[in-house]
Amino acid sequence: MTDTKTESMPFQAEVSQLLQLMIHSLYSNQEIFLRELISNASDACDKLRFEAIADSKLLEDNSDLAITVSFDSEANTVTVSDNGIGMDRDDVINNIGTIAKSGTKAFLESLTGDQKADAQLIGQFGVGFYSAFVVADKVQLNTRKAGAKNDQGISWESDASGGYTLSEIDKPVRGTEVVLHLKDESKEFADNFRLRHVIKKYSDHITFPIMMLEQVAPLTDEQTEAGEVQAAAELEQVNAASALWTKSKSEISDEDYQEFYKQVCQDYEAPLTWAHNRVEGNLEYTSLLFIPAKAPFDLYDASMQRNGIKLFVQRVFIMDEAEKLMPRYLRFVKGLVDSNDLPLNVSREILQNNKVIESIRKASSKRVLTLLENLADKEPEKYKTFWAEFGSCLKEAPGEDHANKDQVAKLYRFNSTHNSDANEQTSLDDYIGRMQPGQDKIYYITADSLSAASNSPHLEIFKEKGIEVVLMHDRVDEWMMTYLNEYEQKPFVSVAKGDLDLAGVGKDSSETETEKAEAEKRLAEAEPLIKRISAILDNDTSEVRASTRLTSSPACVVLAEHEMALHMQQLLKQAGHEVPDSKPILEVNPEHPILALLDQEQDEERFADWSRLLLDQALLAEGGQLEDGAGFVKRMNELFLAMGQSS
Ligand code: ADP
Repeated sequence: MTDTKTESMPFQAEVSQLLQLMIHSLYSNQEIFLRELISNASDACDKLRFEAIADSKLLEDNSDLAITVSFDSEANTVTVSDNGIGMDRDDVINNIGTIAKSGTKAFLESLTGDQKADAQLIGQFGVGFYSAFVVADKVQLNTRKAGAKNDQGISWESDASGGYTLSEIDKPVRGTEVVLHLKDESKEFADNFRLRHVIKKYSDHITFPIMMLEQVAPLTDEQTEAGEVQAAAELEQVNAASALWTKSKSEISDEDYQEFYKQVCQDYEAPLTWAHNRVEGNLEYTSLLFIPAKAPFDLYDASMQRNGIKLFVQRVFIMDEAEKLMPRYLRFVKGLVDSNDLPLNVSREILQNNKVIESIRKASSKRVLTLLENLADKEPEKYKTFWAEFGSCLKEAPGEDHANKDQVAKLYRFNSTHNSDANEQTSLDDYIGRMQPGQDKIYYITADSLSAASNSPHLEIFKEKGIEVVLMHDRVDEWMMTYLNEYEQKPFVSVAKGDLDLAGVGKDSSETETEKAEAEKRLAEAEPLIKRISAILDNDTSEVRASTRLTSSPACVVLAEHEMALHMQQLLKQAGHEVPDSKPILEVNPEHPILALLDQEQDEERFADWSRLLLDQALLAEGGQLEDGAGFVKRMNELFLAMGQSS
């Protein structure tokens, strides 16, 4: 390697920040550097193998792709090299000197201070190369791109102090070589046994061979005397490099699956459960699908539409994040699909409208749903973890996967009025099992918090009649309910919308004729009061009417059947969306003492104030926002004063 020209370049600010972090805070879990560099080397081999399908010249005269790890215990260096795709000058500047991805910032923000957890984040955020600086105070990267000339190699070097140098080099072997100059306190890695151990631990399933020089026993004195010479050590493969999924299930232990998952899906926690299936017949493929125990930080970030499924064709890795293999609402599933029916040169474009992919996707979605059903049945505690982490994702299903609507809804868990313990959630099946005689609907309420839902005045009549109401307080719930109209042929009905018809449902349903007549009479008597209120609130409500929902509150607002809940409207407005103007219905409880007081109010101005208060407090209880907050406060204060005067 002859050095022709060297230039110095500064690091991007984010890179410097990251490097400082690597150097100063991740020392307790040093060995991960090797996993990260081997993973990069393996990616580079994958990329070359993939590109060589279209252009076989790229393989030059060496198509045996491999990774080599070597060390020098005197110079205190460890070297990881590959004969993969390699990089040219621009690649090096863009990939190694800069962090283009927004991931870094998110990475820096999500650091917990717990070194072990933080170290695991490195792989997840794609900042792996820099982990070299956890063990090295100087790193040299020599690389030449596949297909480039021998003298078009490039050497990158840095001691992490603000910048790096680039120089042109000769590099006869294609690919990348990373030389780590170990810090004093990391010398232990310049050791055969140590390196092999770390490779077995983290990189056993890398599908390319990871080679190290075999360990040759030193000659004994007798051998030396007898004139024998030390045999040259040969390279030998250290990792198993087996495609685990090609083995039969009976040969694979739970630990094998868990280790495979951790290595291949870059997670440090074991998965909750998994499904391994080989499909034969019309289509031939194997799928190995895992349900993680923890949601990634960006699961709900709409701009990061990651998907955890890798696509292989006949055991050759084709692509990461094959989003066509799983519907979006199952994007948390990790694992792989290995198909025998797709061409090796398959591209993302080809996947778009591919029948093979379409049927694999359908079958895999079913498989995941069944897997989750089993988990819910057999390991409810694990299922709870799953639901807490990924439940909101599943709630996107009704809008996306009509065919599996009911199967997905079976997996839902909600709070409900059946159980006041927030941690005890119910399935819809259990809800149906507890329905009251005469009940044929699933009643629910949406709100922006559990307490807002469970304290809503809309629940009063349901409490009285002993009818259970599902309490929905997740942001996506309101949206989900626009798609989820029924479950097991039972329609969903919002307790806060439209007309309620609870005749004949629940306790006290057998009203006598006289009771009915009395109720009707009371309603008729309330008519003049309602007309009076209605005249005042004409501009702010679409209707004022006597309520059948309330037993202890004076009033509540009700929305039309297809209107969006107030807290949702609020949220959308805040996010800058146009929300169609709609006026709520105000329902009043004529039996309530406040209404009786109101009825006696002679002062028209005061009557108007009280009526507005009635509407405002009902809006507030519903999570709505008052247009005239100051007016509300003023009227409240006047009410206090009036109370003082009358007592
Ligand atoms: P990630 O691998 O997650 O993208 P890294 O910081 O580890 O993040 O690497 C940044 C980029 O540098 C890689 O995406 C790849 O393009 C390039 N790179 C790193 N190591 C190699 C290698 N051994 N061969 C070719 N390219 C590499």
